[in-house]
Amino acid sequence: MLISGAGVAGPTLAYWLARHGFRPTVVERAEGQRSSGHPVDVRGAAVRVAERMGVLARLRAAATHVPGLTFITASGRRIGPLALGRPRGDELEVPRADLATVLCDAARDDAEFLFNDSVTALHQDAAGVDVTFDRARPRRFDLVIGADGVHSAVRGLVFGPESDYLRHLGLYLAALPLNRPAADPNAVVMYNTPGRAVAVHPVRGDAGAAFIFRGPAIPGLDHRDTGWHKKIVLDAYRDDGWELPDLLDRLRAAPEVYFHSVSQVRLPTWSRGRVALLGDAAASVSLFGDGSSLAMTGARTLAEALAATPDDHRTAFRAYEKHHRALANSRQRGYHAAGALLVPATHIGITVRNLAFRLFPRSNSQRA
Ligand SMILES: Cc1cc2nc3c(=O)[nH]c(=O)nc-3n(C[C@H](O)[C@H](O)[C@H](O)COP(=O)(O)OP(=O)(O)OC[C@H]3O[C@@H](n4cnc5c(N)ncnc54)[C@H](O)[C@@H]3O)c2cc1C
Repeated sequence: MLISGAGVAGPTLAYWLARHGFRPTVVERAEGQRSSGHPVDVRGAAVRVAERMGVLARLRAAATHVPGLTFITASGRRIGPLALGRPRGDELEVPRADLATVLCDAARDDAEFLFNDSVTALHQDAAGVDVTFDRARPRRFDLVIGADGVHSAVRGLVFGPESDYLRHLGLYLAALPLNRPAADPNAVVMYNTPGRAVAVHPVRGDAGAAFIFRGPAIPGLDHRDTGWHKKIVLDAYRDDGWELPDLLDRLRAAPEVYFHSVSQVRLPTWSRGRVALLGDAAASVSLFGDGSSLAMTGARTLAEALAATPDDHRTAFRAYEKHHRALANSRQRGYHAAGALLVPATHIGITVRNLAFRLFPRSNSQRA
């Protein structure tokens, strides 16, 4: 079985498939694990998946928790730090690259990994799928799983262009490590202007920056063109206040920036014949919706379904989708409230948000 993508969903699936006696191959386009420096959440059932994989202790060691949130007002005044509360026992914040590395390590002994390669064509018939790669020689697999993220190559090859499935939600995110210690290791510091937010986030003492801003869909945007991504951010911000001149200089100089048009992926079905989709490739829930947790729980569900009917992939794919789609759908809601809290569109909106956080810090932080 071939899995495209060694992010969060891919290695989790490889681990569980191997436990059920399958022999998975994972192909990953990147040479190793890349990171925006920013943590992602692992919560609820995903923590239990990690525990059963025997990786929870490593994830806890890699976890980061920031107890406070400080707002910088337009006049430069600091509000906070406001207490964000402690995470519950079944919640972890882990830098994405650490999470992916730990999951890959768990699967490494029982799965074949091909880094620095990508699927270029897929042809399926009644008995299998012929796959060609950028670098490796062509091979035939029983099944192919696309776990290759929001801009999935497998989805493009089998389900058609992403414009049919990707819905831009009106926000962009650019994130980069700042390669310097965080000035305040105990608080996220956030500065807003209407329609724009910039946050400096400590990750185990090191600072990372996130630019989150409103903007319409950009036709033809190339999700791999870092120069274009930097220009979009620089055009949106224009050195206007707080530490922005320095942060924008660092963005200009950064070799790599994680850039994301905050989008939801919605498809009428997650499988076609011997090919199925998993994680963000199937149902990205946008920035605010537990993408990493869903990627892990979805992988476990898919592996269990395939193990239950090993000779009948259609039944397995249907069972996986029926169960997991209900969870993904419920997380695809609630985006507007989170967007309004993070990136108010007006000056009044920013003032009201700051006041609300001062009065009700805990209830707001749980929703942000
Ligand atoms: C570099 C990076 C940084 C991220 N930073 C953040 C963040 O700061 N905050 C946040 O909320 N979310 C972030 N995400 C997204 C978040 O990790 C995912 O929403 C979540 O983990 C879902 O997991 P997934 O495995 O479905 O997708 P992903 O974690 O996106 O993994 C997909 C994997 O597929 C690989 N891939 C892509 N195309 C191909 C191809 N053609 N062939 C082979 N492999 C391919 C990618 O390199 C990646 O390793 C980031 C994703 C990436 C790739």
